[in-house]
Amino acid sequence: MRNYTTQMDAARKGIITPEISLVAEKEHMDVSKLMTLVAEGKVAICANKNHTCLSAEGVGSMLRTKINVNLGVSRDCKDYDIEMKKVMSAVELGAEAIMDLSSHGNTQPFRRKLTSECPVMIGTVPVYDSVIHYQRDLATLTAKDFIDVIRMHAEDGVDFVTLHCGITRKTIEQIKKHKRKMNIVSRGGSLVFAWMSMTGEENPFYEYYDEILDICEEYDVTISLGDACRPGCLADATDVCQIEELVRLGELTKRAWDHNVQVMVEGPGHVPLDQVAANMKVQQSICMGAPFYVLGPLVTDIAPGYDHITAAIGGAVAAMNGAAFLCYVTPAEHLALPNVEDTKQGIIASKIAAHAADIAKGIPGARDIDDKMADARRVLDWDAQYACALDPETAKSIRASRMPEDDHSDTCSMCGKFCAVRSMNKALAGEYIDIL
Ligand code: SF4
Repeated sequence: MRNYTTQMDAARKGIITPEISLVAEKEHMDVSKLMTLVAEGKVAICANKNHTCLSAEGVGSMLRTKINVNLGVSRDCKDYDIEMKKVMSAVELGAEAIMDLSSHGNTQPFRRKLTSECPVMIGTVPVYDSVIHYQRDLATLTAKDFIDVIRMHAEDGVDFVTLHCGITRKTIEQIKKHKRKMNIVSRGGSLVFAWMSMTGEENPFYEYYDEILDICEEYDVTISLGDACRPGCLADATDVCQIEELVRLGELTKRAWDHNVQVMVEGPGHVPLDQVAANMKVQQSICMGAPFYVLGPLVTDIAPGYDHITAAIGGAVAAMNGAAFLCYVTPAEHLALPNVEDTKQGIIASKIAAHAADIAKGIPGARDIDDKMADARRVLDWDAQYACALDPETAKSIRASRMPEDDHSDTCSMCGKFCAVRSMNKALAGEYIDIL
């Protein structure tokens, strides 16, 4: 019988839960130090008590940077087994979280399959599911309908839910007055905004926040405070709408913590590179160190087809400056539903960003694998290099398809007989160097 509600409640009571102990071990961190961070809200351990197959992870800027992958059944991809295969291959590639953004048919069986078979954190956006679940037009849904869907996701074992609690009726006026280039680009945020516009009512996720906190406390669901006003282009970055919403997210973070509910705060969006670090500092200050979950940030608007790269550049700088959690972006962003290859490219790009930031932040042990790679490269040990690679398959196939003229050479075809590594090894060993 649990004598605590959430991981935060346990940490505040000095109880070492199995999840706290596992995260401390994974992060090579002293348990008491981790408990202090969880108690203060600076680390979230997203672990719904009904997600029993979870291998818990912590999310916080002083821990390894985590990445999320968005998947789920949709009208164009409605086979549960195919989607589940994508989920498991994302986990194998190193995703620490899967957000189930299913938008077709009965979404509950797939959600339950995830929380009964998938060991990583599972997140959802209940406002998307509300329209699908009730099969009714958005305007006909009531505030109670939205809250009931949150309860259903909590009962199903979802570890974190994105809720766009930060926009209010005042935001509607601001968006109209402020004339942003891209208005609202958050899918969930636009649904909340549309519902408020059509019904004339206040944001239900803001108005009934205390009721939502009760549900989240009961099941230990972490709230990921969605940023409806995240900039959708460089021109809208760090504007009044974004910052005004962030201030409200800071207030909501405090209210959740007073209820022992764990919180992450979602962040921008499209942001020029020179504003990324400042955005992270402002968020940490306004939201009192709550873990920051960034969507990108994309540092230029002109690279459709390559937005996994624009996001990885922004993501690396964001994580180096305090972001804790990166949402992957695929080459299909702004263009289409990602296919399997897009998903892989997005995951690898996010892993590179997260790992580069962890090295820069000095996360203990983060650079060990890079040092191993350097040792393998120095001795031209190709198998050892593949073992260190983020994507061994791609590395292997590139080399195999373009071997040096002499197939048995230990060099690669990049410099062939002029291989600097081989020449240096031979020179330092006092050997004859046969270039021709
Ligand atoms: S041939 Fe050039 S790129 Fe290839 S291993 Fe040698 S030095 Fe490196």
